[in-house]
Amino acid sequence: MKIFKTIPEIKNHLKELKKEGFSIGFVPTMGALHKGHISLIRKACLGNDKVVCSIFVNPIQFTNKDDLLKYPRKVDSDFQMLRENNCDILFFPDTKEMYPEVEDTIYDFGHLDNILEGKFRPGHFNGVAIVVKKFLEIIEPDKAYFGKKDYQQLAVIQALVKNFNIPVEIIPCPTFREDDGLAMSSRNLRLSENERSIAPHIHKVLLQAKTKAATITAEELKTWVISEFSKYHEFKLEYFELADPDTLLPVKSLKKGQNCIALIAVYLGNIRLIDNIEIFY
Ligand code: AMP
Repeated sequence: MKIFKTIPEIKNHLKELKKEGFSIGFVPTMGALHKGHISLIRKACLGNDKVVCSIFVNPIQFTNKDDLLKYPRKVDSDFQMLRENNCDILFFPDTKEMYPEVEDTIYDFGHLDNILEGKFRPGHFNGVAIVVKKFLEIIEPDKAYFGKKDYQQLAVIQALVKNFNIPVEIIPCPTFREDDGLAMSSRNLRLSENERSIAPHIHKVLLQAKTKAATITAEELKTWVISEFSKYHEFKLEYFELADPDTLLPVKSLKKGQNCIALIAVYLGNIRLIDNIEIFY
C-alpha cells in the first residue's frame, strides 16, 4: 500500500494510474478503523481497479471540542487493516495540508442542514461537506463509498455532488453491526464495559419499532421508544424521528405503503451514538 501525506504527491500518483486507464474507488474515513469501514473497502475493491482510503480526523466537523480531542486514533492498526484488505493507496494528510488557511465556506443544503443531526450539531454537515468536496476534487474517483449508518451524511453528500455537478458515483453501503446488533462505530471504543453491555438496546429498540410501526401511529411509536430508553438511566435519548427515506422530511402517519426511515441519536454516558433502520413496506 502506498501512503501519501501531501496533495501534490497523491495527485501525481493518481494521474499516472488514470493515464493507464485504472478506475478509482474512494473510501473517506476518520480512522480507528473497524469492520464497518473494511466492508466499504471490500466493496470498493470489487467495483474498481484501485482503491484509495483517506484517514483524516476533520476538526471542522466536530461541534464538541472534547469529542475531537478524545476521538480514537489507532494509526498502526489502521495501516495493518488496510494492507490486509488490499487497499492500494492511503491518503493521510495533516490538518495544515487540508486547511492551509481558515476555512469559512458555507454551503446550503436547505432543510437537510437543519433537521435531525443538523438541529443538534449545527455546522457539522457544513464541515463534512467542505472536507468531502476537497477530497473528491483531489482524488477525482469514479466511485465513492459512504455508509448508511450515517444516513443523513449520505443524503448531504448526494446533495453536494448534485449541486456542484461533481462527476462521481456515490455508492451507499449497508450498516455493519456487531453480533449483538450494535452498529460498529469508532466511538464504541470509548464506551465503558457497562455502557458497552447495554448499547445493543439501541438496535433492539429499532427492530421492535419496525415491527410496531405496522400497527400504531408515529406519535405512539415515539412515545414507546422514549419509554424504552427511560428504562436505563445510562441512556439519554436525543431524538427518535421517522422520516421519508429520500427527503428526510418527517413522516407524520405510518400509512401502509409509506416507506420511512427511523433515525435515532442517543447518549450513552458521554458518548453520542446514532443508528437507523429502514421501515420499507
Ligand atoms: P467515519 O470514520 O466514522 O467518518 O466513517 C467513514 C465511513 O464509514 C462513513 O461513510 C461511514 O458512514 C462509514 N461507516 C462507519 N461505520 C459504519 C458501519 N458500522 N457500517 C457501514 N459503514 C460505516
